[in-house]
Amino acid sequence: MTSIEKLKFLSEDQVRSLVSEFGSPLFVYSQSEIEKKCDEALAFPNAFGLQVRYAMKANPNSNLLKIMKKKGIVIDASSEHEVLRALHFGFSPEEIMLTSQQFPTLFKELIEKGVKFNACSLKQLETFGQIFPGKAVSIRFNPGLGSGHTKKTDVGGVTSSFGIWHEKLSQVKEIVSKYNLIVEKVHTHIGSGSDPEVWKAVAHYTLEYAEAFPTVTVVSLGGGYKVGRMADEKSTDLKEIGAPVKILFEDFAKKHDRKLILEIEPGTFLVALCGALITTVDDKVDTGSHGFEFLKLDAGMDNNTRPSLYGAKHPLVTVTKSGNISANNKEYVVVGHCCESGDVFTQKEGGEPITRLMAETNIGDYIVMEAVGAYCSSMSTKNYNSFPEIAEALITTNGDKKLIRKKQNVEDIFKNEISVV
Ligand SMILES: *Cc1c(COP(=O)(O)O)cnc(C)c1O
Repeated sequence: MTSIEKLKFLSEDQVRSLVSEFGSPLFVYSQSEIEKKCDEALAFPNAFGLQVRYAMKANPNSNLLKIMKKKGIVIDASSEHEVLRALHFGFSPEEIMLTSQQFPTLFKELIEKGVKFNACSLKQLETFGQIFPGKAVSIRFNPGLGSGHTKKTDVGGVTSSFGIWHEKLSQVKEIVSKYNLIVEKVHTHIGSGSDPEVWKAVAHYTLEYAEAFPTVTVVSLGGGYKVGRMADEKSTDLKEIGAPVKILFEDFAKKHDRKLILEIEPGTFLVALCGALITTVDDKVDTGSHGFEFLKLDAGMDNNTRPSLYGAKHPLVTVTKSGNISANNKEYVVVGHCCESGDVFTQKEGGEPITRLMAETNIGDYIVMEAVGAYCSSMSTKNYNSFPEIAEALITTNGDKKLIRKKQNVEDIFKNEISVV
């Protein structure tokens, strides 16, 4: 049974006034919702201390980074460019850890400044050792099992290239002793699915890696805490998944006389539900009595690629211009504005369009796409069809509406091109 979705943190009046002030489409974030999520993450059960790192790839807008910083949350950067971005907006090098698939070009400079490095392959570890013998390092392992709501977000197990495969522990040890490295942290991050049982098993394995390196003081279990975007989906209860892990840390302390600090790296959890995308219905078409009725939005996969990429579902809430909502409900296929058949917001993984039950919606009405705070603005087919990157706004804790990113001009899209013909 699907139910009609509701607005999460905006009121209908706010939707209308945001559009009149900043236009449509528009990303909107709520500072107080983000702060609440920060507090929940900071209350994660732990035995001997906790460090929360924000996986900034989820949404790197500087205002969000500053909200995190004020809460005492530090940074998980997934590329050297994210490191530079976090440094630029006030994080100290020591507050940033780089966990990167690609080895950074600025490696030496960044590590010399104090940025922490999480070695994700034997080659990365070897290179670290060659340049910084005797220095402290973190190591990312692939524990051999993963968790993800789709294969594409699963980053553990044999099909994943993330982290050092767990059976290569002896090679890791060789490199560590060859360069006298101090392994201060072991790290796993297995993806965005968060089955509590899988998570507990991963914690167990990660503690085994901590056991293998007596210098380890911090154990990072990464992120991947699932949030319920749709009304019928459940969010991870951090207290529930954290409780058994706390016991594992206590047992470890009894057995090895080492009190390990727990680190977590939420991205999705901190921001996903704290953002909405306000769009306008640009057109309505249908494909006859055996077909579908389509709502065409003024936004698309260039703003939120998750439905096209994963078949991800986001709530779609109709807000009428007039304020009078129809009592009639209808099944719609909701599509984006890109000339691309995959730009469909209501689809199954694999691309088959499905309908969504919504209040009857007309051209000119607004559709608010909810739960777009993570991996939407930051992860999109930006500028496809030469649609400019859209504006972002923040509702501050005192209720003010502030623009936090301007809409791009079309000239910005082609300004780096060089004419040679
Ligand atoms: C992306 C990422 C995270 C955050 O994942 P979420 O599913 O957004 O919580 C944490 N750690 C690392 C290393 C990541 O790459």
